[in-house]
Amino acid sequence: MAGSVPHTFLITGCNRGIGLELVKQLLTKPNPPERIFATCRSPDTLQSQELTNLSAKYSNLSVIQLEATDPVSVTAAMKEVEKQLKGRGLNVLINNAGIMTETTLESVDDKDLLNVFTTNVVGPMLVTKAFLPLLMKAAEENSQAHMNWTRAAMINMSTILGSIKLNAESFLMKPVLSYRCSKAALNMLTNCQALRYKQDGILCTAIHPGWVQTDLGGPEASLTVDQSVSGILKVLCSLNEKHSGLLLDWEGKTIPW
Ligand code: NDP
Repeated sequence: MAGSVPHTFLITGCNRGIGLELVKQLLTKPNPPERIFATCRSPDTLQSQELTNLSAKYSNLSVIQLEATDPVSVTAAMKEVEKQLKGRGLNVLINNAGIMTETTLESVDDKDLLNVFTTNVVGPMLVTKAFLPLLMKAAEENSQAHMNWTRAAMINMSTILGSIKLNAESFLMKPVLSYRCSKAALNMLTNCQALRYKQDGILCTAIHPGWVQTDLGGPEASLTVDQSVSGILKVLCSLNEKHSGLLLDWEGKTIPW
């Protein structure tokens, strides 16, 4: 990744799991970003201690409060980021925050489906809309550059479980109905964003991180968070306009919708 790390990042859901590891690996690159905005819902709690400890150690890390489903919180976060950027744009937005619940066709109800959709679809939509002007600014700052993450990129953390084409392979084994539906919707949102923002030079790609040992993935998962995030960062680094509007896995393989 040497020589090709974007100047500025904003990542949601950074107090644990994949979000926290993304922050850690970016901070310890030989050529780290100038500024990482790591967001979490409750920066002042024990659950965010590891992240806030990092911000005491690394001056290029800003911890920002952001509840992805709350427009007031999202707007306040955007204003703070805008202030800290001092007129510059935001190169990379990673919509990482997400939730998964165990639901079957029999057990699912309106409350669960709406709750999961609110976090996994409404959240990324609200966050992307709010930060779009800053991504646009970054894309304009490098208007001669090809589409890639050092110019401007919005990345949505999705999953292979949202693939309709591959659904039969795992549907019976993994009863997460609301999650599957929400990530299929997130995939559609990503594809719509790619079509719309192509003219502005903003790359829009969905990433499947693999099955990862986090609170969400569980201890039986096949990948450590370190393996997954190393792979994701290599993939993000290699993205160009051909990858905009696609769902790719942590090794760079395209997953069918
Ligand atoms: P974790 O459960 O470990 O972490 C989820 C993160 O999202 C936490 O920081 C959590 O914050 C945050 N979050 C949840 N809801 C909100 C919200 N409304 N607003 C802001 N932040 C919120 O999950 P992972 O790290 O494993 O997952 C990260 C992403 O990767 C998710 O989108 C997930 O769907 C995806 N993914 C994960 C896989 C895996 O195997 N782990 C597989 C495929 C996809 P808090 O602590 O406050 O709850």
